[in-house]
Amino acid sequence: MPELPEIETIKRGLTPLIINQKVTKVILHRENLRWIIPKHLSTTLTNQLISTINRRGKYLLIKFEVGTLIIHLGMSGSITVVDINTPLLKHEHFELQLKNGTSMRLKDPRRFGAVLFSKDGSHKLLDSLGVEPLKKSFYDGYLYQKSRNKQQNIKAFIMDNKIVVGVGNIYACESLFMASINPKLKAGSISKTRYNVLTQCIKTILTQAIKVGGTTLKDFVQVNGNPGYFTKNLSVYGCKNKKCYRCKGIITWFLQNQRSTFYCKKCQT
Ligand SMILES: [Zn+2]
Repeated sequence: MPELPEIETIKRGLTPLIINQKVTKVILHRENLRWIIPKHLSTTLTNQLISTINRRGKYLLIKFEVGTLIIHLGMSGSITVVDINTPLLKHEHFELQLKNGTSMRLKDPRRFGAVLFSKDGSHKLLDSLGVEPLKKSFYDGYLYQKSRNKQQNIKAFIMDNKIVVGVGNIYACESLFMASINPKLKAGSISKTRYNVLTQCIKTILTQAIKVGGTTLKDFVQVNGNPGYFTKNLSVYGCKNKKCYRCKGIITWFLQNQRSTFYCKKCQT
């Protein structure tokens, strides 16, 4: 599943390719993905200039004067920018043809993704999202404040999109490892000092992942739905029964909130 670092990488890759380009044609190769794709896009966006591209959580926001195209890649989505004459591939469901002879295509085999539109840039899917982990709004003290009286475990807490967006399962495991925090601890029981460390660890882990993604995809043409580019840098995720590089303890695996959790019992306390 594409995670925040991957979406950020896609955003950065797309920026030089589509900004200030005029859309000449919008093609809906099917009516719906997770939800119906607004039919009016083929008229609304034709001859419109793409002004900016932003990311909010895992949503890509492509801005036009008439409104914002909101794209989510779901479980298996990817975006390519190709020559307009390139034959359409299977599962390429949505296409923006541009005046410079290229075409931005959204491929989504499992169709959990979304293509939506908003005139003023707001959308109910965006309204409930928590703060961006790499922005100043995710400051030291934020997690501490939000977690008071919370009984849920720390891992579920930092993965809650209403608190902070983009901390997927892998990044939650890695951040808790880096901060030496046991994923089973109750969110409400963790000190301010430890939360401040965790906040910086989350920022570091996500920044590293974006950096790796950004260098791997330097010839940005295609991004697949596999977060594999980050797997070389994992310290704990997927490391069941391996030695912890920090304390030589053994990495443990267990199922927590229906998700795989990896941690070192010895140094994550
Ligand atoms: Zn350890």
